Amino acid sequence: MTATAVEVLLTGPVLAELRTAAKAAEPRETGGLLLGWWDTSDAITVRHAIEVPDPRATPTSWVRRPRAARVALAKALSAFGHPLLGYVGDWHSHPAPCEASWQDRMSLAQTSRQYAHPVLLLIHLPGDMIDMSAAHAGSPRPARQPHQNQEHAYESRPARRGYPRR
Ligand SMILES: [Zn+2]
Repeated sequence: MTATAVEVLLTGPVLAELRTAAKAAEPRETGGLLLGWWDTSDAITVRHAIEVPDPRATPTSWVRRPRAARVALAKALSAFGHPLLGYVGDWHSHPAPCEASWQDRMSLAQTSRQYAHPVLLLIHLPGDMIDMSAAHAGSPRPARQPHQNQEHAYESRPARRGYPRR
C-alpha cells in the first residue's frame, strides 16, 4: 500500500523563521505552527513558521500548548493579513540529529483527523536540515519537495513511511 506523497513547497521566510527560532532556543527544543495554504489536496505551500514557546521545553521535548497556539495563530493571521494564509501544520526543532519520533508521528496523525486536507510536520535538525512528515485522515503520508530547488541551500529528506516498530 503506497500513499501518494504530499508535495511541500517551502516559500517566503519560512526557512529563515525556522532557523532563527531553533537557534535562539538551543539547547532546548522549540516549535509552533506552520502557515500556508493547500494548492490541491496533495500540495501544500508553507510560507511562515510561527513560534509558540513552551516554558517547560527541554533539549528533547517541546509541547504545543493549545491556548497559546490559538492566540499565536490569531495574532499571526491578522499581522500578516494574507488572504490565503491559514494553519497547515506544526513544526518543532530537534537540537539532536534525530528525525521525527514515534510520538511526533502519532500526534501528527491525531491532528490530521481534524482537517479535510493533509497536515504537515516539519522538524528543524542540526545543520539546517528539515525532516518532513505528513498525515491525512489519521494516517501517515510521505511528504517531499516538488523538485530540487537550488535557491534554498539546505537538504530535505523524504519522510519515512510508516511508524518505527518501537
Ligand atoms: Zn520531536
